[in-house]
Amino acid sequence: MNKILNYINGNKVALSDEDLPVYDPSTGEIQSSVVLSNQKDFDLTLDSSLKSQILWSQTTPLKRSRIIANYKNIIEKNFEDVATLISKEHGKTLDDAKGSLTRGVEVLEFASGIPHLLKGEFSQNVGTNIDSWSVRQPLGVCAGITPFNFPAMVPMWMYPIAIACGNSFILKPSEKDPSCALKLAELFSEAGLPDGVLNVINGDKRIVDLILNSKDVSAVSFVGSTPVAKYIYETASKNLKRVQALGGAKNHLVVMPDANINQAVDGIMGAAYGSAGERCMAVSVAVAVGEIADTLVNKINDNVQKLKVAPWTDSESQMGPLISKQHKEKVENYISKGIEEGAKLIADGRNIKIQGYENGYFVGPTLFDNVTKNMTIYKEEIFGPVLSVVRAKSYEEAIDLVNDHPFGNGTSIYTSDGEVSRHFTTNSKIGMVGVNVPIPVPMAFHSFGGWKQSLFGDHSMHGMEGVHFYTKLKTVTSRWPKSIQEGPEFVMPTN
Ligand code: NAD
Repeated sequence: MNKILNYINGNKVALSDEDLPVYDPSTGEIQSSVVLSNQKDFDLTLDSSLKSQILWSQTTPLKRSRIIANYKNIIEKNFEDVATLISKEHGKTLDDAKGSLTRGVEVLEFASGIPHLLKGEFSQNVGTNIDSWSVRQPLGVCAGITPFNFPAMVPMWMYPIAIACGNSFILKPSEKDPSCALKLAELFSEAGLPDGVLNVINGDKRIVDLILNSKDVSAVSFVGSTPVAKYIYETASKNLKRVQALGGAKNHLVVMPDANINQAVDGIMGAAYGSAGERCMAVSVAVAVGEIADTLVNKINDNVQKLKVAPWTDSESQMGPLISKQHKEKVENYISKGIEEGAKLIADGRNIKIQGYENGYFVGPTLFDNVTKNMTIYKEEIFGPVLSVVRAKSYEEAIDLVNDHPFGNGTSIYTSDGEVSRHFTTNSKIGMVGVNVPIPVPMAFHSFGGWKQSLFGDHSMHGMEGVHFYTKLKTVTSRWPKSIQEGPEFVMPTN
């Protein structure tokens, strides 16, 4: 059986002989295994990352940018293969895998502008014959710990920008679908990235803890569930590292009575059930305002009945399986809990059977109506194809729901009223907001990040936030000797 190793200093290696199975979510069968790295693997990784960073930081930004541009071309040539790796281990449809890879490639496009992005500021004559300028310099070795749900896109939010800025990067991908990260690292080497600038180390919490406790890792980027994000933020901060930790979500989509209902239903369908709801920007709550509720629920249900659930190998599949048996059980338990607590189950995704894939981790699209604030299915992140409809009497009630929820990743409103839309974008306490778009994921040249329990730290990911996160600011004040004034000065200089 294929064993997925680490990628350290340009080589596929593993010193540990422990491993974990990697499952095929469509069949429930083991398809490979992944190494559970140990201290020795980590030491090897860190040594390579530290050494490579010194030379890499001295490589001109223009040369770095050319390697990144070349990398983009190489990924595009291998697009089908990388997307297939995503689908094989994650289970999402091939088109969805391709879409997510495209979002990663867009970060490469942004990062290849690094000579421009790193330009500092210059002031002539801040004092007589004294000039001052600021530059942004790399941090050193940076690390990223990533979730299972976007095996290419989320790592690509991080390492292209960190590396473009002159850092080396250690990536610890999810142990559930680790192959894609290795392939991406190999392709970067093919594009001319020096060995060791991007290392991939596989493993679990033990490797994460070694990263968090290493004095040689300067910054940690994390994306995953909120409890782990909190742990990463607290531990890395205690160890005086720079840290950004993105967590879970419960994204609300508000449908106003004046919304284009068909557009709203299309938006909800893709955002609630695409990727089986395993997206941090998935819509898990639809807030139906006023008299639109019955029509909305009926139209969503009509679409739910037609939705095709199938493995990624079926080109007509609109939704694949969940990532694991445990996760499937967890999502099914949430559905039972919703019924127990009094929500009205309109469509039940439990017990779905797909011929030939009876042991796959499939849960069909599930729809609840009359969900209320105090129910578990409203309060917690389910991370599956379960949509809760909450009925609100007014816009005010709807925005209060959005703002009172502890998560703050994304939200959206469907309306044709400009005033309502402006009030919503201004007053919602959420990091990423959409108007008549279901999943307001910012492009690479903007930045991605939530508020409240969805992000711990001061920086979002990619865009200029990424450049600032992965660099430190230096400001130089300079005078040339001939202009030296006479005698020492004992007071603060003023102009
Ligand atoms: P997870 O938190 O279980 O794992 C994420 C990473 O942390 C993995 O690499 C894993 O190996 C590691 N990890 C797991 N438990 C750990 C522990 N106790 N200590 C240290 N490291 C640990 O998340 P997941 O199940 O892989 O991904 C799903 C979650 O990620 C969802 O909550 C989803 O909302 C969130 N997510 C958020 C965003 C965002 O941008 N906010 C994006 C994608 C996913």
